Amino acid sequence: MAYVINDECISCGACEAECPCEAISEGEGKYVIDAEKCLECGVCAEVCPVGAPEEE
Ligand code: SF4
Repeated sequence: MAYVINDECISCGACEAECPCEAISEGEGKYVIDAEKCLECGVCAEVCPVGAPEEE
């Protein structure tokens, strides 16, 4: 399943810069992952300072 960013996100943008498939973009109040593009690589979860990206 794709990764999903939870409400802990502080909109730092670290994950967007690292995502290999450009699936992450800034949303309202937090960043969001396009499930259609997500390859489930987990890089976003590794770089996030607050552990916001979770596996669905
Ligand atoms: Fe949000 Fe974490 Fe992504 Fe930063 S790295 S934008 S805190 S999900």
